Amino acid sequence: MTAAVDMSTAGHSGGGVVVVGAGQAGFQTAVSLRERGYGGRITLVGDEDAAPYERPPLSKAYLTGEADEALLWLRPPEYYVRQSIDLLADRVTAIDRAACTARLAGGGVLDYDHLVLATGARPRRLAVPGSELRGVWALRTLAEALALRDELRRAAEVVVVGAGFIGLEFAAAARALGCAVTVVELLDRPLARAVGERTAEHFTRLHRRQGTRLLFGRRVARFHDDGSGAVTEVELCDGSRLPTDLVVLGAGVEPRTELAETAGLRVDDGIAVDARLRTGDPAVSAIGDCAAFPYPAAGRRIRLESVQNAVGHAQLVAERLTGLERDYDDLPWFWSDQFSSTLQIAGLSAGHDTEVLLGEWPDAFSVLSFREDRLVAVESVNRPADHMAARRVLANGVPLDPATAAGDGFALRDYARRHRSKPLRPATEPV
Ligand SMILES: Cc1cc2nc3c(=O)[nH]c(=O)nc-3n(C[C@H](O)[C@H](O)[C@H](O)COP(=O)(O)OP(=O)(O)OC[C@H]3O[C@@H](n4cnc5c(N)ncnc54)[C@H](O)[C@@H]3O)c2cc1C
Repeated sequence: MTAAVDMSTAGHSGGGVVVVGAGQAGFQTAVSLRERGYGGRITLVGDEDAAPYERPPLSKAYLTGEADEALLWLRPPEYYVRQSIDLLADRVTAIDRAACTARLAGGGVLDYDHLVLATGARPRRLAVPGSELRGVWALRTLAEALALRDELRRAAEVVVVGAGFIGLEFAAAARALGCAVTVVELLDRPLARAVGERTAEHFTRLHRRQGTRLLFGRRVARFHDDGSGAVTEVELCDGSRLPTDLVVLGAGVEPRTELAETAGLRVDDGIAVDARLRTGDPAVSAIGDCAAFPYPAAGRRIRLESVQNAVGHAQLVAERLTGLERDYDDLPWFWSDQFSSTLQIAGLSAGHDTEVLLGEWPDAFSVLSFREDRLVAVESVNRPADHMAARRVLANGVPLDPATAAGDGFALRDYARRHRSKPLRPATEPV
């Protein structure tokens, strides 16, 4: 398998590392390679017209105007020059694995010693009539957030399709700006893929208390306009119609796998990689939202969409390319901010059989999920100390069973302190 790539600095000979995608994972690969002393050429190719930036504020503080653009940049422009990272605004259109080259839409061809696919994901479009109307938006990029920021200031009524994280965060921002907001969700509760019933109920109450209309178990049939080409109504499958100035689709994302597919790499809901994030080609890795990687606790490959996952993957690949091999086993964690509520999740709760509640539901609580008497995940709402403690307990494999957690006076923070064996790896924090 791949040895560490050439560390020589002399004239940056060789193709070095080419990273496709200048998002969170691609950016972190370049940064971590330099931090680990990699002296070869690093080329970061991004098809957005922007230097690498953080996406989380796009559905939160950036929409409401509390964060401006400068706060989104992961590094100021001089950083890339100083670190000799070639930042190319272009799109990779094809990879020739035999020749170890990547073709650019702008006409160029890049040689590589190692290629990192960090192509992210794109919002899922709805396959219903009218999806192409003006005013039907997705929210993934800075350009879209910038446009939506303006649209929100003009809109009186907004419909959000999908009560996942992006849909609900957008709904909260739109309410905060005074819009009348309706969220339409196919399932019977919000955040169904990500959180349990208690947490979902907390967010249902929170949004309703703030005046948002939440419609569960309802499907969009089509979008209408009044002949002008701009959306004016959302029609649901039960025949009801919701007048609107603006629609935001929050119906999930699809990994961007097309380059890998046409290059003959294995794709199965994401670019398939092994525990060291290598594709079937030892000269090609895949990381972040686009990568399906083995997760031992699940016994199969999974794909995660989070900053932690993008950063952790990138750090592992940078380590491997500079000679330090390990399997990927970072603890997944995630957060979401909606109105005054902060949700933090550590671990993955899929397949759990027991739950223990700590704190005061529905306002400030943690749900501890166990599988076969073993703690697998903790969802915390407005309990940041529980979240940090959960990360320590889970990352260190500290044993905790439901009976102990349900005992009188149990405090997760004290338990984590008492069982502290090693500190959290600082490398799992985003830069
Ligand atoms: C609005 C929003 C809010 C979020 N909030 C949170 C949050 O609160 N907490 C959290 O943990 N996560 C959050 N996320 C998720 C998190 O931002 C993503 O998981 C993370 O950005 C994934 O990083 P990535 O590098 O894999 O993909 P991306 O950041 O999507 O980067 C991929 C980049 O590759 C580019 N690209 C794709 N194909 C090519 C090509 N052929 N050539 C050149 N460039 C290409 C894309 O245009 C994109 O710029 C949020 C995401 C969004 C959209």
